[in-house]
Amino acid sequence: MELEKLRETAAEIAARDDVKYLIGWKKGSYGYRVAPAFAEDAEGASDFIFSPLCTANLATYLTLVEKLPLPRGQEPDKRKVALMVKGCDSRAVTQLLVEKGIHREEVIIIGCPCPGMVDPDLLNKKYPETEETAELKWDNDGFVIVRDGEETKVPREELLDEKCQLCRYPNPVVSDIMLDDPVKAWEPVEDEGVKEIEEKAVEGRWDYWQQEFSNCIRCYSCRNVCPLCYCQDCILDRQNPDWVYRSVNFSENTAFNIARAFHLAGRCIECGECERVCPANIPLGKINRKLAREVRDKYGFEPGLDPDAEPFQASYKPDDPEDFIL
Ligand code: SF4
Ligand code: SF4
Ligand code: SF4
Repeated sequence: MELEKLRETAAEIAARDDVKYLIGWKKGSYGYRVAPAFAEDAEGASDFIFSPLCTANLATYLTLVEKLPLPRGQEPDKRKVALMVKGCDSRAVTQLLVEKGIHREEVIIIGCPCPGMVDPDLLNKKYPETEETAELKWDNDGFVIVRDGEETKVPREELLDEKCQLCRYPNPVVSDIMLDDPVKAWEPVEDEGVKEIEEKAVEGRWDYWQQEFSNCIRCYSCRNVCPLCYCQDCILDRQNPDWVYRSVNFSENTAFNIARAFHLAGRCIECGECERVCPANIPLGKINRKLAREVRDKYGFEPGLDPDAEPFQASYKPDDPEDFIL
């Protein structure tokens, strides 16, 4: 994708009278950091980028707008929010449209066909971060790291993020403007993480998650970063009534993590953000992708693809399988 075209388009959109702000990515202050960015005018969008480090799913910000009651006589700000989306991010936007968390006329969707992101942990391990700002680019079948003006070519499979190895929708499924031609989708690898869970007996699965959930510190980062965890008053965090205690112990941690996974069944679009931000390195993707696979195999449903779909958890067909009911 040409940087010049990206910035020109971003500047045009941010300058529009009917746009409140544009959400995109820009270089962070040091090392490999890339930060989400908000532009209210053309100048604000002048340093926007799209690179293999733009992992953050910006759709989360669509639901973080506080909707306070307006004083009498004051009109609501009906300007649109524009945002840049990769394939997975666009599925989050579509799912939000399905759930009426947002409305189509409120957003401008700028599609970024996505050749795949790097895994930040692998990147830091293999090519330790410098304090100087460093960049990453795509190059045919791989990545190029630019540090102190020096370029290092790296094969794609060496740094490609797990979620991108598994990706089936690298091109935005919904957009108003596309910044480039669609990329050629690749054959996803087998999901070894889910396979590992499926191969365990029930007791083995319990032991596995007991071990993992014991490490949870209940920081709620997984919930806060998730574009589809947007209840203003989260049942897992409220104190009256106190459905799940905030105590950090295996029992409460398990209740929190399992309830969140079930609330996301048929809704999670596998962007991997929850796992990326978890400070305890809990492999949350395995549980989310396992549930996504169950929903796909049993009900033939995939979230975030069709804005006119009925919400999975709120719809019913007479021939739905029910063999899981004891
Ligand atoms: S999951 Fe797909 S769309 Fe999302 S960052 Fe990876 S390759 Fe891009
Ligand atoms: S991000 Fe990780 S540690 Fe924090 S609440 Fe979620 S699972 Fe627990
Ligand atoms: S549960 Fe995790 S992978 Fe699924 S949509 Fe939320 S942040 Fe993305």
